[in-house]
Amino acid sequence: MSVVVLLGHPVAHSLSPAMHNAAFRTLGLPHRYETLDVTAEALPGVIDRIRSGELLGANVTVPHKEAVLKLVDTWDGPSAEIGAANTLSRTSDGRRVLGSNTDAVGFAYATRDLELDGARVLLLGAGGAARAVMAVLFERGASITIANRTSERARSLARSLAHPVDREPGVVDWSSRIDLSAVDVIVNATALGLHGEDPLASAELRPELIIVDLIPTATATPLARRARAAGATVVDGLPMLLQQAASSFRIWTGQDAPVEAMRAALYASVN
Ligand code: NDP
Repeated sequence: MSVVVLLGHPVAHSLSPAMHNAAFRTLGLPHRYETLDVTAEALPGVIDRIRSGELLGANVTVPHKEAVLKLVDTWDGPSAEIGAANTLSRTSDGRRVLGSNTDAVGFAYATRDLELDGARVLLLGAGGAARAVMAVLFERGASITIANRTSERARSLARSLAHPVDREPGVVDWSSRIDLSAVDVIVNATALGLHGEDPLASAELRPELIIVDLIPTATATPLARRARAAGATVVDGLPMLLQQAASSFRIWTGQDAPVEAMRAALYASVN
């Protein structure tokens, strides 16, 4: 039996074990997926366990997605471009640890029905997930303004990620009263919502707005509930979670993920 771990802090809330263990069972694979609450200092030790073959691989979540990229031996194209990895595996020669990014695929899938060409997007957050979101939004023709609690991190993201020449990302101050009058789409890529917080608690939401809330544990975060009540379009975090998981599963096992079994396990676990 081989074990895949979810590295993060905190990780106890995650719905990923339900999805991946259902997938392993469905395909009759003798593997197990577990959460592992780790500090930044403990990351190199876990990466060694992947390198040695003791672990089959890992997912990476808050707050380690950017840090792991500096610790792995090699990267795939998307993780290098985005500057963050959410999936770790062993290379086919069995000697190195590969960092991959499947968040971008997940976000592209979750937003596939939205018209984003020319959309003015307010991106809340500047961590690993925000980086993947931004790469997809640029590809889809959107313009982006970033707001992050730590403003230097927002500025650094705006500077570091490649963007079309005519669409330099803007940065605005982090505030729950942020001006939404010139915004078409809001993407919440912060951790606010995991514990019932609303990142835009004092902002009025218009029916024409599209809200994409990445929080991967609930279909109805406070922000999503308010947006639906205002008549806005809402995409919750579960379709992205499912799709990034299916892509990660393929990386570890070399097999197509049994997506319907994963979807059933995911929606059975959500509260
Ligand atoms: P990171 O740790 O890299 O980034 C966390 C982000 O949240 C930063 O922008 C951080 O701001 C912000 N943040 C954290 N706490 C607060 C707070 N109290 N107030 C304001 N801002 C806060 O995490 P990720 O980028 O990996 O993940 C971000 C979110 O996206 C998480 O909720 C994660 O679960 C979700 N996610 C969902 C996925 C899905 O499939 N649905 C996939 C990937 C992520 P600062 O820079 O100031 O610390």
